[in-house]
Amino acid sequence: MESTDMQGLSRRNFIGGAALGLGALAMGSLAGCAPKAANGDPDAGSGSAATSWDGEYDVIVCGGGGGGLTAAYSALENGAEKVIVFEKGSQCGGTTALAEGAVQAAGTSWQKDKGIADDTPDLLYRFWKTDSEGLVDDDLIRCMADNAADNVQWMADSFSITFANVFGAYPAPYLDEALLKDRIHLIADAADPTKTGGAIWTTNAQKAVTEKGGEIETGIEVSEIIMDGDAAAGVAVKNGKRYKANKGIVLAMAGIEHNEDLAKRYNPQHYWDLTTQSVITAPTDTGDGIVMGMAVGAQTIFHGCVDLLLPTWSYTNNQNPEIPYILVNMRGTRFVREDTTYAFHCRALFNEAMQWGGAGGATYMVMDAKMTDSDKMCAWSDNAEGGAEAREAALEDGTLVQADTLEGLAEAIGVPAENLVYTVAKWNDDCAAGADSLYGRTKQLTALDEAPFYAWRTQNSNIGSIGGLRINTDAAILDEAGNPIPHLFGAGVNTAGWIGPYYPGSGTCLQGTLNWGRIAGKSAAGA
Ligand SMILES: Cc1cc2nc3c(=O)[nH]c(=O)nc-3n(C[C@H](O)[C@H](O)[C@H](O)COP(=O)(O)OP(=O)(O)OC[C@H]3O[C@@H](n4cnc5c(N)ncnc54)[C@H](O)[C@@H]3O)c2cc1C
Repeated sequence: MESTDMQGLSRRNFIGGAALGLGALAMGSLAGCAPKAANGDPDAGSGSAATSWDGEYDVIVCGGGGGGLTAAYSALENGAEKVIVFEKGSQCGGTTALAEGAVQAAGTSWQKDKGIADDTPDLLYRFWKTDSEGLVDDDLIRCMADNAADNVQWMADSFSITFANVFGAYPAPYLDEALLKDRIHLIADAADPTKTGGAIWTTNAQKAVTEKGGEIETGIEVSEIIMDGDAAAGVAVKNGKRYKANKGIVLAMAGIEHNEDLAKRYNPQHYWDLTTQSVITAPTDTGDGIVMGMAVGAQTIFHGCVDLLLPTWSYTNNQNPEIPYILVNMRGTRFVREDTTYAFHCRALFNEAMQWGGAGGATYMVMDAKMTDSDKMCAWSDNAEGGAEAREAALEDGTLVQADTLEGLAEAIGVPAENLVYTVAKWNDDCAAGADSLYGRTKQLTALDEAPFYAWRTQNSNIGSIGGLRINTDAAILDEAGNPIPHLFGAGVNTAGWIGPYYPGSGTCLQGTLNWGRIAGKSAAGA
C-alpha cells in the first residue's frame, strides 16, 4: 500500500498530516424587493435591501474543497462568466486536500490500460446499491455510476490529472463478489505522476478556475442564504457583506464533520466518533452548509460514517494484505467479518460499543507474535518504518497490551478468559480447515498460536460523516416536499442521498464530490 497507493507519502506522514488537519434568477424581479436573510433577519449582512449588495456574480460557490472548485470550473465551462468561490479557511482544499486521492469509476481507459476490460457502470451501480442496504436514492447512484468514467476523464483533462494506480476493494458479507472490480483510481499529477493525493486535485483545480476567469476568496465564511421569495438570491458572509447570485448558488461546505450539536441530534455514530474516537477531516467543516440549507427549508438525510482503523492501517483493499488479527468484544468473542470493507466492520465496532452504553464499550484487535513480522502495513510490524518503536510506545501508553498467554491477555483487557481462549481456539480450528465457520471471512485466515499475544483497543478514525442536503440528479437541493429550491445547488458531501448507512469503500466520496460538483456547476450556470 505504501509503495503503491501512497506513492512516496509515508503512512505516518499521511496520518500525521491528516490529524493536523492538519435557470437564471431574473434580477429584474429583485428590483424594488428586499431579499431577506434565510433566518428572516433583515439585519444579517451589511444591509437588507437589494440595492445594498456588495457584489454581483453569475454563480457563487460556497466552499473551496474538491466539490466547490469542481463546481466553479464547471460553471465557467458552461457559460457562467462571473464565478466566485468563497472559502472559509485560510486556503482552499478542505478535506479533499487531505484525501488519499482514490476515485471509483468503471469502464475507464486507465482500467483498460491495466487489462481490466470487464468492468461496467452497471456493476458499479449494483455494488453501491447493495452496500447502501436500500437507503440511497436509486437515481443518484445510477447517475454517479453512469457518469463516473466520463467524470474521471473530464477531471484529467480539466485539472492536469492522471491516475497512478487502479485497485480494488474488499466486500461486505452479503455482497456478490462478482460486483467487485479493480476500479479505484488514484489521483496523480499529470506533470509528475509520482505526486498523488487529493491535494493534487484541489491545487490544480484552483489554477484551472482562476485561469478560466473565476475568482477565489479565502478567509470568507458564508453565513446565510438570502432568499427572494422561494428562490435563493444571494449569500451573506461573516464580514457583513452580501453578494447577489444572478444564476445560482452552490453549497459545497461538506458535512457535519466537526459539529457536535448536529451529530448528537442526527447521527449517533458520528457523535460517538466526535466524542470518543477521532475525526480527522478539515476542522473548518462544521456543517455550515447544512445549517444554512435547513434554514431555507432544505431536506436532510443522515446516516453513518466513513470510519476506518487508520492507526493500525487495517485498510482493506486487494493490494493491501490484512494484518493477522481478529476483532473481539468485551465478552471476548468475535462479532463481525473482519475482512470487510473498512466502514462495514467499523460500524460493527460502534454497535458493539453501544452494547456497553457507548463510551465504556471497547473492542480489541487480537494478534499474536506474527504481528511483529507481518506485512509492513501493520503499524507495529518490524517491517514497518519505525514499527518496533511504535509498538514499544503503544505498549508504554497502554493502547497496546502484550501477554504471554491468552488468559493473561484476557485479564489485562478485562474480558472473560474462557471466552477469549475459546474464541481463539475456534478461530485457529477454522484457519486449519480453511473456512471461517462463523462469519465467512476469506482473507488472512492465519491462526493466532504464537506467544506473545497482543490486544489493541480499537479507535475509529472518522474521515467523514454520511449525511447532508438531499439533491436530485441536477444537484438541485430539494425542499421538504421534494421540490428543487430554485437556484440552489449542492456539491460534495454537503449533499446526501447517495451513500447509505456505511461507506462502501475508497473512492466513493471523491467520485460523488466530482460528479455532484460537475453537475452543480453546470446547473447553477443554467446550462
Ligand atoms: C485522511 C482522509 C483521506 C480520505 N481519502 C479519500 C479517498 O482517497 N477517496 C475518497 O473517495 N474519499 C476520501 N476521503 C473523504 C473525502 O476526502 C471527502 O469526502 C471529500 O473530499 C469531501 O469533499 P467536499 O468538497 O465535499 O468537502 P471539503 O473538501 O472538505 O470542502 C469543503 C470546504 O468548505 C469550506 N467551508 C466550510 N464551511 C464554510 C463556510 N461557512 N463558508 C465558506 N467555506 C466553508 C471548508 O473550509 C472546506 O474547504 C478522505 C478523507 C480523509 C479525512
